[in-house]
Amino acid sequence: MRVALTFDVEMDAPPYLSSWRGVDEGLPIILEALREKGVRATFFTIGILGQLRPKAVYSIVEEGHELGCHGYDHKRLDKLPLREAADNVRKCIRTLRDFADVETFRAPNLKLPPPLLHVLREEGVRLDSSVAWYKPPFRFAPTVEAGVLRVPASYPSSVLRLPWTLLKALFPPGREYVVITHPWEYVELVAHPRPDLTIGVGRRVAENLSRLIEHLKGLGYELVTMRDHITRG
Ligand SMILES: [Zn+2]
Repeated sequence: MRVALTFDVEMDAPPYLSSWRGVDEGLPIILEALREKGVRATFFTIGILGQLRPKAVYSIVEEGHELGCHGYDHKRLDKLPLREAADNVRKCIRTLRDFADVETFRAPNLKLPPPLLHVLREEGVRLDSSVAWYKPPFRFAPTVEAGVLRVPASYPSSVLRLPWTLLKALFPPGREYVVITHPWEYVELVAHPRPDLTIGVGRRVAENLSRLIEHLKGLGYELVTMRDHITRG
């Protein structure tokens, strides 16, 4: 059985904040934890980070992780005119390809207008993870649409903020998982306009990530990148 850890790399808790503490302080914590555990993961990154924080993007690639695309600037693609949304996706992919090959995608808020699947395909993106067990239309198994493999995320990122015993119960053996978290969840965000986003963030999330990796390894899971879903079915 496989599990993929995925990190959506963006500004802090969009659309509420526009600071970058997650990238500056949280991302190094994640990279160190993955290095310590010997695990490779997928980082769905917004393209503008290539301009604003190129060293952060390089740090992901240099550690051997997969770089995926998370839109250019985290604008909701379903709220943009279709042509603008298509340009946003293309710009993200092309910017990130200065750093690494990009074959996978996840839309901001997991909202991908279906016509954009064709844009992904045209741009050589072969996998989309903008579907989830927990969001309509509630996909549980991978599908192929417009020539793009769609692999659903398992849980919202907030589950990593749960106490470990509750979190662990969400990962019984027998299913494959795609885990989402964000670098901004690994820092204590202060003065946040949504107090629920500050509960359990910071050290608990970092501890839970390491515990989850150990738990899943103990169950015999293989930790893979999203790209591995393409190359190995
Ligand atoms: Zn996001």
